[in-house]
Amino acid sequence: MSFYEMKELLKRKLRDKELGIALERSKKSYLAKRRRCLRKYSYIKELAKEVRSIKERVLSKLDEFVKQAIDSLEENKVQVHLARTAEAAREIVGDIVGSQKLVVKAKSITTDEIGLRSFLLEKGNEVWETDLGELIVQWLGSKPMHFITPAINIRRERVAELIRENIGVEVDPDDIPGMTRAVRRFLRGKFIEADFGVTGANVLSADTGSLFLVTNEGNGRLVTSLPEVHIAVVGVEKIVPTLGDAFKVCDVIMKYAGYEAVAYLSAITGPSKTGDIEKTIVYGAHGPKKVHVILLDNGRMEASKDPILREALYCLRCGSCQYLCPVFDLVGGYWGGDAYVGGIGVLWNAITGRIREAMIQSFFCLGCGKCKEVCPMNIKTPEVIREIRARWIREKFG
Ligand code: SF4
Repeated sequence: MSFYEMKELLKRKLRDKELGIALERSKKSYLAKRRRCLRKYSYIKELAKEVRSIKERVLSKLDEFVKQAIDSLEENKVQVHLARTAEAAREIVGDIVGSQKLVVKAKSITTDEIGLRSFLLEKGNEVWETDLGELIVQWLGSKPMHFITPAINIRRERVAELIRENIGVEVDPDDIPGMTRAVRRFLRGKFIEADFGVTGANVLSADTGSLFLVTNEGNGRLVTSLPEVHIAVVGVEKIVPTLGDAFKVCDVIMKYAGYEAVAYLSAITGPSKTGDIEKTIVYGAHGPKKVHVILLDNGRMEASKDPILREALYCLRCGSCQYLCPVFDLVGGYWGGDAYVGGIGVLWNAITGRIREAMIQSFFCLGCGKCKEVCPMNIKTPEVIREIRARWIREKFG
């Protein structure tokens, strides 16, 4: 999209009343939850600072931590793949899955970054997003509009229509629990029959090789336990040194996302196994027989060596900055790329190879600094956006 196309799109969205109502409803609910969390758990700001210093330590020696994580994962009988690019990651997953398979997915921005759903569909697979917001996005054929709330731009009235169109069930637009029940019934069989479960991870501990998933709906548990094979696509910046550090990251994500504690905090350390018959280890007791982890670089290693762009890698994807950005407040995730939206999205588009897109998006940032103020990692988003713009201009015009 060119600068002028984006400008016209955002101008149209400014006049979109439905979008305005949907954004206002979500923001109001988030702000109340965030205020409550930060007031009730007064330790959280200090913990967030500690998490930033843990991540600083990892990012200064990312190669070493990647190696340690690979060793630990392999010790746990996980099949590990290191993908340098988005294309390589897609190919690895494509080779594991093949075609004519049923795949269920949990919400994962990293899989959106590599365009995994459409790639697997093109290979002739049946693929279902199982997070309710992501399923709405899939039905719409659009893109996620927020890190935590992918369908933040969609009003309940439209969701009711989508349910009627896609699963043939009539639901009252004021009956949100009824809509949730309809989707639950629709997805139940998919979980049970799926060949593959695909997820990302919120954090990965290098010492134990444990993947953490922070979820509320329960779909993450079903995706990672019912199919015979679990595939996780994990950005290398998600690695932290220890299991204890991983819990700290999860706590900060939960609180800044507005949840005191999520319904499900899952730690996955290898395939399911039993040794209950004569101490003979058998993999695939009740959960997956195989777990594949694709560690994704796609610009992260290079960014970790760049003192300015490294800032992006501290992001925990809590979504605070998106809810509280004055530009996002008006146009939502239409300001952004396919996976990464809002101010922090500019940084992520820049480091994952979409520099032209990032530069265009950078011109819509007001530079007010609200994002930095509300960010648990104190990410200097406006400064980095200015630098991305300056570098691009220097490169183009000397
Ligand atoms: S930049 Fe900060 S506030 Fe925004 S999603 Fe990332 S961690 Fe959260």
